[in-house]
Formats: sequence, C-alpha cells, structure tokens
Amino acid sequence: MIARADAAGPETLQAWDHAHLWHPFTPQADWADATPLIVDRAEGSYLYDVEGRRFLDGVGSLWCNVHGHRHPTIDAAIIEQLGKVAHSTLLGVSHAPAIELARRLVEITPEGLTRVFFSDDGATAVEVALKMVFQYWRQKVDPEPNRTRFVGLTNAYHGDTLGDVSIGDVAPFHAMFGPLLFPSLKAPAPYCYRCPVGLQRESCGTACLDELDKVLAAHPGEVAAVVIEPLVQGAAGIVVHPEGYLRGVRDLTRKHGTMLIADEVAVGFGKTGAMFACDRERVAPDVLCLSKGITGGYLPLAATLTTEAIYSAFYGRAGDGRTFHHGHTYGGNPLGAAAALASLRVFEEEQTIENLPPKVEQLRMGLAALAGYSHVGDVRQHGLIAGIELVADRSTRADYPAAEAVGTKVCLRARDFGVLLRPLGNVIVIMPPLSIAAAELDELLGAVGRSIRDVTEPEQAAS
Ligand code: PMP
Repeated sequence: MIARADAAGPETLQAWDHAHLWHPFTPQADWADATPLIVDRAEGSYLYDVEGRRFLDGVGSLWCNVHGHRHPTIDAAIIEQLGKVAHSTLLGVSHAPAIELARRLVEITPEGLTRVFFSDDGATAVEVALKMVFQYWRQKVDPEPNRTRFVGLTNAYHGDTLGDVSIGDVAPFHAMFGPLLFPSLKAPAPYCYRCPVGLQRESCGTACLDELDKVLAAHPGEVAAVVIEPLVQGAAGIVVHPEGYLRGVRDLTRKHGTMLIADEVAVGFGKTGAMFACDRERVAPDVLCLSKGITGGYLPLAATLTTEAIYSAFYGRAGDGRTFHHGHTYGGNPLGAAAALASLRVFEEEQTIENLPPKVEQLRMGLAALAGYSHVGDVRQHGLIAGIELVADRSTRADYPAAEAVGTKVCLRARDFGVLLRPLGNVIVIMPPLSIAAAELDELLGAVGRSIRDVTEPEQAAS
C-alpha cells in the first residue's frame, strides 16, 4: 500500500521524517534527537503545526513571505492560473504570466534594467548573473576576455551552487568545497561592529571602500564584476552597511570600468523599507538578482535582470555563437509568475511599502530595549530586517563558542512563547512578513527578549 501522509498522525509523520528526510543545513544527528516541528497549515503571520500549536512566523518562512500566508489575492491568482496551465517551458515557447511579469519587473526595478531572465531560486539567479557577465565581456563589441574575476565581500553568501560558493565567503559552509571552486577576489565587508580596518563608524569616512578601490586597482582589466548584497548582508549575520557604502561601490565599479551585480534575493521586495535596496541609494546595478519575496513567498521563482548593453552582446542567430546556453526546466513557471504578479498587485492595493514606517519604528524601539541586555553585543536593523548579535562578553565583544549553539537555544526557547525563529550562528534574525500587525510585532519582540534573557542570563530570568 502507498504511504499517505494526509492519513498519518503526528507521531507517524515524525517517524517517517526521521527515517527518510535529509534536511538542508541541518546536523542530522541533532535532528534525530529532537521532535520535529511539522507545519500543517498557515494563516496571515502564523503557522500551525500538526498538533494544532500556533507559531508566529518570525523569519517569514526563511525571509520570503511578504504579505502573510493564505493571502486571498495570491491564493486566487494561483488557483486561476492552475485552471489554465501549471507548467509550460520558456525554452522555445512563451506564456502570458512570464511576459507580463517581465514587463512589470522592468517597470519597478532601477532604471536601465530592461531584460529579464527567469530561473527558480536565489542561487540560480546569482549563478545566471555570473555566467551572463562572464560571457558578456567575451562577446561585447570590443571584447575584454581578461575580465574573468569576480570580487565579493568577506562573509558573503549568495547561494549554494558552486559558482555562488566561489564568490561566497562563509567558511563553515564553503571550506569543504575549496578544491572545486574558481578563485575570487575579496574586499572587506563594512561590518562596523567588528570593523575590518579597525576604525570607528563616526570617523571612518567609510574607509572600507578604499580597500575595494585597492583590490580593483590591483587587477586592472581583470574584474568581470563586483557582487554585493545591497545595504544588508543577510546570511553573513545581518550585517547592515553604513549609509553611502552602496553608492560608493557603484562609483568604484564605474571608475574601474567593471560591472555591479546586486544580489537582492534576500533584501528585495520591501524588506529594507523600499521596494528594492538599490532604490535607497539611487543605484542602478548592471545586473539585479531577485527571488524569495518575488512570489510573496509562495512558490520558487527567480529573475536576473540586466541592461540592454549586456543583452545586446548576446543578440545573434543560430550559428553566431552568441546564445546564452543556460536554462532551468521550471524557470519562469506560470504558477510562480502568476503568484508574483498577484503579490505586486497586493503591494499596490495594500500600500505595503507606504505602511511600513510605523512598523520599522516599532521594531527600532523594541530592539533598543534589548540593546542593554548583558549578552547583546550589537543590534542591527534596516527596514523590517533585524539581527541581534549575542556575545559572551560585551566589553571584549568575544563570541560565544559555536559549540554552545546559543543562537539555536534562543530560537528553540522562543517556540515556547509561540514564535518561530532561525538564527545565523550567534545572531538572532527577525524578518517577519511585511504585513505583520503591530500587536504581532510586539508579540515577536517580547518573545525574542524573553528568550534571550532565559538563555543568556538564566539567573536573572529566574529571579
Ligand atoms: N542570495 C542571498 C542574498 C540569499 O540570502 C540567498 C538565500 N538565503 C540566496 C542568494 C540563495 O537563494 P536560494 O536559497 O533560493 O537558492
């Protein structure tokens, strides 16, 4: 008989999970010891597990949910599209949802981005960008084939394909694959709490830009592109860049005649308080990578947008050798595109961006209250994204040892208060749906505060 999960109770599901599922980014032995939280359904800002317990979705189902779960407009758009066709390819044929979405994305993204290449995940959006730019330099009117190197920031994370890992810099994730990676150049990330050039933010004059300048100057005519996450480096630990840094990077790429690839997979679609992080500093990148929130957090879809200048280098006929030989089976999937179009409609109908400022302020106030806790080293926020860095010692800024898993302990404690979180090492991440209500945001902040106290100051918490 075929096993039917919908007929199985929570305990059977847990047993089957332990027997067969290999979870991403998960130490499986720890997982085997724990009782898995199995999500059954969701509504608005809340997820419900198979035992009927309710959890506030504090990280927007991994940084992608925008308007809440089961939004009627997005649900209806997917169902309507399902009544037409669930999937048809973009290789050799086209379909209306992808066409309309491409047009909408060109309308709303920074000036000059006119061409849209669809794929299905954040990792592929960036992988496409790397290959596209690499090929561009070889095929442009005056080819510059020596431009083969990419510059990334320290601690950068751009996805898990080998190209993305090559430009990334998260040792625990990436070191293993060293022999498989292409070499890339690194510039120091503007991680002000632990400044890479040993300065103070108030007086540094954004000196880390000088380091990028030096890297670019040391490799004249060799750099294909600088790749950055604009404003906030998410997986690096919610590293919030100082104002003007993004603008400075754009200026340096122009000065050195190279390209800027902006990875807005995490920060795009309103999270920083603007539709796109690049908008905040009036930066138009040469390539823009989008995913996660593009469908409102409903379905896997990604887009790599670029300029006419890059696109024209690929413009040719069969036999010209100019084609971009890249594509994914489900790239631009009609259901995903329909969800994305509906999500953009919700942005307009509900004035999602316009309604953010009070929530951003509420988050700021809530975080300020945590900043004095004895193991909170730094509190970082941009828009509705926040990171709370926990430290063993505030005066020396000494890290908690990774083996203590303090971030994980705080997030597990938060579940006791009905809030679902996932940390980045010792950084507690807050990235709720943009639709979160004021009372829900209070609930989230309250649970985060209590959980940090309970785990890092157990004596205080008990008294
Ligand atoms: N780029 C950034 C900035 C990301 O945060 C992520 C995922 N967290 C990715 C790329 C990869 O996206 P995906 O997990 O959808 O492959």
